[in-house]
Amino acid sequence: MKINGHCHCGSISFTAEADPAKVVVCHCTDCQTMSGAPFRAVLPIAAKDFVLTGSPKVYIKIAQSGNRRAQAFCGECGTPLYATSPDAPAVYGVRLGCVDERAQLPPVKQIWTASSMPWVHDLASLPGVPGQ
Ligand SMILES: [Zn+2]
Ligand SMILES: [Zn+2]
Repeated sequence: MKINGHCHCGSISFTAEADPAKVVVCHCTDCQTMSGAPFRAVLPIAAKDFVLTGSPKVYIKIAQSGNRRAQAFCGECGTPLYATSPDAPAVYGVRLGCVDERAQLPPVKQIWTASSMPWVHDLASLPGVPGQ
């Protein structure tokens, strides 16, 4: 499916052709820290299907595997956008939170569950209000 994404301030945007069957929730500690959230949802997109407008800032992290990973984010508003290989980008791990169509892209798998928050699967049973 065709998707559109953008950072909060709008300086950076992208379009892509995405496979809805590939959305993953990642509970790794790096995703927790770098997203500022208890977990992150990621949509992998082939580089040939990803069209970026604007110039993100890039932070290189060393993954647990030892691989260098380029973490792209908006230098103005800080929105995390994607991660990829810094040397030969083949796949962009797009951050689902900045994709307009995210409600139609439910995750199909969870990874790094060993570091998931012990309470994360209880959220559905908490009382909720539609606004603040
Ligand atoms: Zn921005
Ligand atoms: Zn992760």
